[in-house]
Amino acid sequence: MSDDRVPSARSINRRSALRLLGTAGLLTAAAPLARAQATPTPEVPLNGNGFYRQRIGDLTVTVVSDGTAPLAAVLPTWGANPDRQAEFAATLAEYHVPTTNTVNHFNPVVIETDTHRVLIDTGRGGANGQLLTHLRRAGIDPASIDTVFITHGHGDHIGGLTTQGQPTFPAARHVMGAAEFSFWTAQPNPNAAVQANLIGLRDRLTLLEPGAEIVPGLTAVASPGHTAGHLSVRAQRGGPGLLVFGDAAGHFLLSLKHRGAYVSFDADGPLAARTRQRLFAQAVDEGLWVTGYHFPFPAIGHLRRVIGGAYEYEPTVWQWS
Ligand SMILES: [Zn+2]
Repeated sequence: MSDDRVPSARSINRRSALRLLGTAGLLTAAAPLARAQATPTPEVPLNGNGFYRQRIGDLTVTVVSDGTAPLAAVLPTWGANPDRQAEFAATLAEYHVPTTNTVNHFNPVVIETDTHRVLIDTGRGGANGQLLTHLRRAGIDPASIDTVFITHGHGDHIGGLTTQGQPTFPAARHVMGAAEFSFWTAQPNPNAAVQANLIGLRDRLTLLEPGAEIVPGLTAVASPGHTAGHLSVRAQRGGPGLLVFGDAAGHFLLSLKHRGAYVSFDADGPLAARTRQRLFAQAVDEGLWVTGYHFPFPAIGHLRRVIGGAYEYEPTVWQWS
């Protein structure tokens, strides 16, 4: 958010001052420096251990992991087309991506603008959810989240909305797509997560349409296919933009590399694949940062176009602060 989050401007100034003064000046400068050290600068946690923070234009973007779940085999979960299994397996081998005994990642995102602190998706909640632990490590108080945006109604995205029956983000306006909300809550037997976290939080929910503003700088982007009313988020303030895919991106390698590929959780595989092509093209054409909910942590980077109309994911180059 504001100045106290900027990594130690004061200590940088102090270092520069020391360099300029040299050893002679150091003697006279010692007293005020000692006083300055007595007032500790608030610690900005170093990236890692469950969260990854960076600036994008005027936005502060923190990917906050909800942890991982064991995954016995990448295929067919992340590349489900039955007639293309050999092709997918060859790509995984080519890129040295482990295919067995691996994990699924879950990556909610906090976006801070000059006016709002928005959480996008809430992880699994319950005993497996790591979001709250990692928010704490990142120095983000759940009560300071003023907006929670939900991309779609799957349990690994809505599960963290409540904790022991209470809203996890008590001060937040909760926002999701109207079509997505209707789809899940109109089921004859809604699952427990939908009961507790969508129907149960109905009074807190603002329902919106694709293209609507979530908060100034953040817009809901239509991305149907994974679920009927899935929404992604485009964020931009004073610099390059960011596209938060949610589950619209699918797998960080197979969905990008193979046009028409879909994942086993896509409600409408062909539609999900068409949506992916549109979003991938948008990300490249507009030079956007991207983050995929199930991409490997820290799950943020760019896309590039490669030969044959395929795409590749370029993970960010890790910065500690
Ligand atoms: Zn998901």
